[in-house]
Amino acid sequence: MGIWNKKYETMSRSELEQVQLERLQKTVKRVYDNVEMYRERMDKAGVKPEDIKTLADLAKLPFTTKDDLRDQYPFGLLAVPLDEVTEIHASSGTTGKQVIGPMTENDVELWAEIAARSLAAMGVEKNDVVHTSYGFGLFTGGFGAHYGARKIGAVAIPMSSGNSKRQIKFMKDLGSTYLCCTPSYAMSLAEVLYDMGYTKDDINLKGGVFGAEPWTEEMRKEIEDKLGIKAYDIYGLTEIIGPGVSYECTEQAGMHINEDLFIPEIINPDTGEVLPEGSMGELVFTCITKEAMPLIRYRTRDLCVLTKETCKCGRTLARMAKPVGRTDDMLIIRGVNVFPSQIEEVLMRTDGVAPYYQIVVDRVNNKDTLDILIELSSFGMSDEVKDIEALTRKLSAELLSMLGIKANVKLVEPKSITRSEGKAVRVIDNRKLH
Ligand code: ADP
Ligand code: ZN
Repeated sequence: MGIWNKKYETMSRSELEQVQLERLQKTVKRVYDNVEMYRERMDKAGVKPEDIKTLADLAKLPFTTKDDLRDQYPFGLLAVPLDEVTEIHASSGTTGKQVIGPMTENDVELWAEIAARSLAAMGVEKNDVVHTSYGFGLFTGGFGAHYGARKIGAVAIPMSSGNSKRQIKFMKDLGSTYLCCTPSYAMSLAEVLYDMGYTKDDINLKGGVFGAEPWTEEMRKEIEDKLGIKAYDIYGLTEIIGPGVSYECTEQAGMHINEDLFIPEIINPDTGEVLPEGSMGELVFTCITKEAMPLIRYRTRDLCVLTKETCKCGRTLARMAKPVGRTDDMLIIRGVNVFPSQIEEVLMRTDGVAPYYQIVVDRVNNKDTLDILIELSSFGMSDEVKDIEALTRKLSAELLSMLGIKANVKLVEPKSITRSEGKAVRVIDNRKLH
């Protein structure tokens, strides 16, 4: 399927590393000269721009964290004068105060380029109708997909999220062929489609460009079946640029990182040590072509594994596995690490329950409690309490073996859990309130 930028997406690793090194050296010099925080930190660490002689020297540079972005809010990390900035977007604020992503005209162009690479890798062509239901208000999801679709020359529909019935109406009327939104919103839209009395045969969708939140393979299958599409994963973050930092190709075998623009590393989140290829750890990015706010060794807090093996699609760009979650999504319950994605995996493979759930953590008498509210599927609903009890027991047993701790499973009525229009909020941790 279409490779948007053959030169960079299929470059040999040695050529790519040469490009990365030259761009890294330029960027380090630029931030040293223009950003006080980086100059101070590099001076403190005793490293000068000239010390970056190989890619391995990247490890000499200090990390940047989300707290740094908050401390330097709004413009402390700008490497250009403010009048060169042409757009400012902001993160969704999932984990606290929002951070902003200022861009120059070239940065916006770069963003369109990576979004075009992503959509093209998922099969989007000029004659496609790209329906974007990511939010557009500051959140980067909407504009990223929109710019990418425009660059390819497809028909771009900036729907934004919400008003799901209207979404379905336009999808049908305009013959949308690709849907871009969060995977949780794709699930909600599929539900509304069927509630309106339609099926996948009444729409013209071929593919989905889903990201901005973690989702499991089980959820992918469910969305693909319900909407009759291929569902692709796309990853990105505002601090780095937005969606399209990495993207799946039609092999659906990990997301290709645009390494000619962002150098990835995997580190041990506790020690900061760089880990060898194939290890699970925290993903770190260094922007090597961005102008407005090029971040050095930015700690994403997303946990995943990288591989540099050439993909069957022909791309040489490294691939990242689906992030299992963020270090700060990880719940520590009774001393055990729990990721919401593990819970989702169990629910998605169990008959009788719908893929809507909420995790409530609390502390009672100094002991952590874990309640999982799970919706019964409207198809599998049974009046017999016996069945509900059996289902509860089955889910409890499977969750115990997946998580290693006991969860209190509560089955709830179909459609009683709030549907997501953007990033789903699945965890309520009441311990923070005490
Ligand atoms: P935030 O949610 O932190 O306010 P963003 O809206 O910029 O900020 O979202 C970026 C974050 O969303 C990433 O760091 C990552 O945790 C998550 N994310 C984005 N795409 C994916 C994806 N495809 N799979 C899993 N998580 C993702
Ligand atoms: Zn590939």
